[in-house]
Amino acid sequence: MAHLELDNISAAYGKLRVLDGIDISVGSGETVGLIGPSGSGKSTILRVLTGLLKPEAGQVRVGGEPINFDKPAEIRRLRDRAAIVFQQYNLFQNLTVLENVMIAPTKVRGRKPRDVRPEAEHLLAKVGLADKINSYPDQLSGGQQQRVAIARGLCLKPEILLLDEVTAALDPELVSEVLDTIRGLAEDGMTMLIVSHEMGFIREISARVAFMADGKVVELGSPAQIFDAPEKERTRDFVGKIL
Ligand code: ADP
Ligand code: MG
Repeated sequence: MAHLELDNISAAYGKLRVLDGIDISVGSGETVGLIGPSGSGKSTILRVLTGLLKPEAGQVRVGGEPINFDKPAEIRRLRDRAAIVFQQYNLFQNLTVLENVMIAPTKVRGRKPRDVRPEAEHLLAKVGLADKINSYPDQLSGGQQQRVAIARGLCLKPEILLLDEVTAALDPELVSEVLDTIRGLAEDGMTMLIVSHEMGFIREISARVAFMADGKVVELGSPAQIFDAPEKERTRDFVGKIL
């Protein structure tokens, strides 16, 4: 069964229609890749899925339950279930790595620090930062900071992880360590929707890939279909340019 479903989602910024009838589903434990040119609406999809933009039409369902975007309680619940990590990791510079990971579960969710702490330490070990928990963000590389941001997202125990170009701001030599972290999450069965320009990575990690252009899903299929045998001219153009 699909864990996350976007069913005919349309969305706009004011009069500018940016999503036009989007259908995407992500199964439990599945990784779906989202690719397409800049401005095609990839980040906007993730914005809808974190309740930051209300769709004009269509339905988002999580675990089969439709989200009513007019109900703040349902948006809060959506945010509990889907965590997002951005290109800009936005860590608190005045807090340690461990404190950065613990702050949302303790301050926003009101959980006890003594319960959250072992979980945060476990997640930081998982992203390869066990020895950095007491460091401050400015003592870490960009790749390490981005891995803290991923641990921070995971510490909210989301059912679904949304990743928006998480390696785009990193120096090239730091990209692979973050991709390795994400690969580990996929192997652990995390349900993920990943926007990335790292085409080799998207191809390798995704069960299915959606190619978007102009606010529409042009083509959705296996990585082999999208990258080797695209059915649509538009997809062919895009993958031809970037591979
Ligand atoms: P992508 O992530 O694929 O590059 P986006 O989802 O960020 O694309 O943007 C889709 C379209 O929406 C673009 O035309 C962009 O200029 C526009 N857009 C994005 N954010 C805003 C905003 N806050 N206000 C108005 N228009 C926006
Ligand atoms: Mg974007």
